[in-house]
Amino acid sequence: MSAPLLSVENLTVEYAIGGRSLFAVSDVSLHVDRGETLGLVGESGCGKSTLGRAVLQLRPPTGGKVVFDGTELTTLDAPSMRQMRKRLQLIFQDPIASLNPRRRIGDIIAEPLIITGVADKAERDRRVREVMTAVGLDPDVAMGRLPHEFSGGQCQRICIARALILEPELVICDEPVSALDVSIRAQILNLLEEMKRRYGLTLLFIAHDLAVVKAVSDRIAVMYLGKLCEVGPTEAVFARPAHPYTALLLEAIPVPDPTVRPSANVPIGEPPSPLNPPSGCRFRTRCPRADAQCAAEVPLRRPVGGGQSVACHHPLAGG
Ligand code: ADP
Ligand code: MG
Repeated sequence: MSAPLLSVENLTVEYAIGGRSLFAVSDVSLHVDRGETLGLVGESGCGKSTLGRAVLQLRPPTGGKVVFDGTELTTLDAPSMRQMRKRLQLIFQDPIASLNPRRRIGDIIAEPLIITGVADKAERDRRVREVMTAVGLDPDVAMGRLPHEFSGGQCQRICIARALILEPELVICDEPVSALDVSIRAQILNLLEEMKRRYGLTLLFIAHDLAVVKAVSDRIAVMYLGKLCEVGPTEAVFARPAHPYTALLLEAIPVPDPTVRPSANVPIGEPPSPLNPPSGCRFRTRCPRADAQCAAEVPLRRPVGGGQSVACHHPLAGG
């Protein structure tokens, strides 16, 4: 088996808040194989965006490693990281806010080419037109327009075009459809699938919504309060969730339709503050299976068969 394109080892990211440390990401390890889509799911505030940004070194990790195609990114100097950035791109949740309102669409999409030194204007135009067409935008109509002339879904197409123009290998999609109307979510998810095939992409797909993640992911990683609870192939995790948190997230999906937003996917109250996480297992204060061992010992993630692994003292399946 070839080495994974991305491997994250014991990654920790801290924010300093009023002299205290908030561990937004705590000792997270995961990998993404070439051509694979790994779905990263968990409630709002569990650290998904922080993890995505730390992979790209936009938020330097406090500890751990990020290995991309054999290169450790956390120790790269700034010029080497700039070179590396071409190969790793990010798509954000709010497409309208991530586009400069005063710049024309053609210039926005061409910007990464200018930054990376593609000096030939005709070459830039050719590549802008090609990628715009690929994402379903008519270059003749759209190139000269400003972002406000487009809908949220079209703005996300523009953001996808901008992310793809340098032909990256890994794209981190941070809740790419969460801000969009339910009616156009499926279109953007289908577009991402199509772009994945066309450009041979590897995706880290972040969402708070398990139904959306299911629709696109080969494997799923479930995150809770800065830690991974469970990782495994999508079908296995859906058929036999091993972590009680995964099971609760699954129960909270109202209908098995990825285009419908679950109404309330928050199990048993609010999550505790990451400034003061519970001892032992962080999920124990909301877990129906918690006992004294869960308060005393941090559960380490271990394999339970079928490619599934779980960080739980009392797993539901395979334990
Ligand atoms: P998610 O993307 O899963 O919603 P985030 O990664 O945005 O989660 O946030 C994880 C935790 O880190 C949250 O408790 C959030 O309040 C905190 N956090 C995020 N960004 C910052 C920041 N720039 N400074 C301080 N705390 C932050
Ligand atoms: Mg986020």
